[in-house]
Amino acid sequence: RKRVKGVVISGGSPTSHMAIIARALDIPVLGRVTDLLTNVEDGDRLLLDGQNAQLFVRPGEEVRGAFKASMKLLQRKRESFAQLRDLPSVTRDGVEISLKLNAGLLIDMQHLESGGADGVGLYRTEIPFMARSAFPGVEEQTEIYSKVLDQAGDKPVVFRTLDVGGDKALPYLHADTDDNPAMGWRAIRIGLDRPAMLRQQLRALVRSAKGRALHVMFPMISEVAEFDAARRLLDSELAREAKQNGKSPVDLRVGAMLEVPALLWQLENLLPRLDFLSIGSNDLLQFLFASDRGNPRMSDRYDSLSPPVLSLLASVIETCGRHDIPLTLCGEMAGRPVEALALIGLGFRSLSMAPPALGPVKSMIRSATLAEVTEYVSPLKNLSDHSVRTKLRAFAVDHGISI
Ligand code: PEP
Ligand code: MG
Repeated sequence: RKRVKGVVISGGSPTSHMAIIARALDIPVLGRVTDLLTNVEDGDRLLLDGQNAQLFVRPGEEVRGAFKASMKLLQRKRESFAQLRDLPSVTRDGVEISLKLNAGLLIDMQHLESGGADGVGLYRTEIPFMARSAFPGVEEQTEIYSKVLDQAGDKPVVFRTLDVGGDKALPYLHADTDDNPAMGWRAIRIGLDRPAMLRQQLRALVRSAKGRALHVMFPMISEVAEFDAARRLLDSELAREAKQNGKSPVDLRVGAMLEVPALLWQLENLLPRLDFLSIGSNDLLQFLFASDRGNPRMSDRYDSLSPPVLSLLASVIETCGRHDIPLTLCGEMAGRPVEALALIGLGFRSLSMAPPALGPVKSMIRSATLAEVTEYVSPLKNLSDHSVRTKLRAFAVDHGISI
């Protein structure tokens, strides 16, 4: 972590898990540099500008000087974000937007304080599993989750149960190779087919939370029956622990991730069963557009800021509002200021994002007047444009909103 200064790859896409982990570690990544290997030799000096997606190979004196100056500027900008830490995340017209952290490594937890987040909106539990050569047992997992909760203190942590498979293969889980891994045997599907594995994880979560709050979220739920089956496993672990150790978590909340479009037509039945819903836009959009999130050729093809996406999100907000179910969006789009601007305009009041995004998104929120944003964003969903990104950017510039 100390030595890697940047990652440049010939493939890749911004919502791939490699990019997500690099973002969490604040390591710049540049992908889709297709001619990388023909232009770069061992030992070459490289300058990587992740912000502007530029790589300088064997840069001259002048470029190096200019680069140093812009690094200084970036540093200053970061310092100004750090100063926002203790300021509330409210719009100019006084509406509070809860900002939460996406985490997956213990080291991410330090950003809860330093970034001024309200809690962890998505704890990706699979990351410690990916870093091991064997499946961690109940004790080892209990230790990890307890440490996470210790570090979070009073702030809530939403633990997502294992989401492996897809682009997150576990070396020791011998699965057949799926032709379409993202749509294959992954996440809750593995958990329900291998209930011992999911039960061990749930047991560890319940144990680590005894006497504390426990928030659990199931990924890739495609039908209500899957949620019910997962919930039953959790309930049996709760009962088992209460009987054996006599201590239960206080304040248990159980939620689902909305990542599979089929769930959109089951919300009326699903929501009464939930304590909260979280939209995993990375997966939801790849399935919505039938566009692989890890395929570099597809990464610019469809825009998250497009009318169908805004329309879908507005409808989920409306349904959750009717059922009084708290809603968060925890995909990568929550951490990009222009996207976050659209999201708050649509009605989101809770967003969860990678640590480096907290400052820029809070700065956007504090410079926006929500009533104006809402009025501007609402009709955008009815347009036929490929994207409304340029319009939103212009709106932000005209209204002095920091993006
Ligand atoms: C998502 O799909 O948006 C999400 C948050 O989960 P992950 O990126 O880990 O698949
Ligand atoms: Mg996902």
